[in-house]
Amino acid sequence: PLVEEKDLEELKATGFLVTLDSKHPFDLYFPFIVSGEIVGVIAFDDLNGKRDFLSKQDEMMCEIGNILKQFTLRDLYEVAFIDPLTNLYNRGYLERERRHLNEFGCTVMIDLDYFKVINDTYGHGAGDNVLQRFGALLRDFFRVHMDDILVRWGGEEFLVIIRHPIAPNVVFQKVTALKNAFKAIQFQFCPDKQLTFSAGIYFPSNQKMSLQEAIDAADANLYRAKHEGRDKIVTN
Ligand code: GH3
Ligand code: MG
Ligand code: MG
Repeated sequence: PLVEEKDLEELKATGFLVTLDSKHPFDLYFPFIVSGEIVGVIAFDDLNGKRDFLSKQDEMMCEIGNILKQFTLRDLYEVAFIDPLTNLYNRGYLERERRHLNEFGCTVMIDLDYFKVINDTYGHGAGDNVLQRFGALLRDFFRVHMDDILVRWGGEEFLVIIRHPIAPNVVFQKVTALKNAFKAIQFQFCPDKQLTFSAGIYFPSNQKMSLQEAIDAADANLYRAKHEGRDKIVTN
């Protein structure tokens, strides 16, 4: 065989190759990794059992190129940076854009209250539906077409970055209105239940503050909002 088992081990260590199926250790899988996440895998089957992948490198590269050509840049961008459930940006997007974001008006961190109970009581599908609706609501309230950035930060946690200078009371009113609108949604699976969220808002105290510091500060305010009983907005 042209590929010895020990060579495969070495290839695996590079992270460019994984063997998903222990029964067929000589099939090759090229994970397609963007921002540390596997967004796809290109698999080559060792159909003739010759394990001669190395001699076929050119052919394989050509094949990979053909597969990638089927995606447009926009597709790749979407797969990499848009959360498919909520259609908001994911955290990877922020990691990439971070260095361009040294000026911003404020950060808002939002976490849905008692979300685990929704999943546990009405099922994961119901939970997903809530996340979707919340994502849509966020888009209604913030001006994505201007320059507000909406990110699904984690499971049921969302980050809003308002880029332009903005008055604190305007943001507070906006988040309060968002909170009321969220409460007013009647979900089919629990029409009588009002869902709530807690939010931490942070206005940078000086121009030099990094985005990370402002995110951490908004998160600390969110933590206070949770601690004070949830369904609250805390700001500096
Ligand atoms: P708290 O008020 O303290 O925020 O309580 P919580 O229940 O909202 O918070 P906790 O962190 O205990 O639970 C978050 C839950 O969110 C747990 C996790 O299973 C769920 N979750 C995370 N991502 C998703 C998702 O994509 N879909 C669904 N349905 N649930 C998710
Ligand atoms: Mg929560
Ligand atoms: Mg949470």
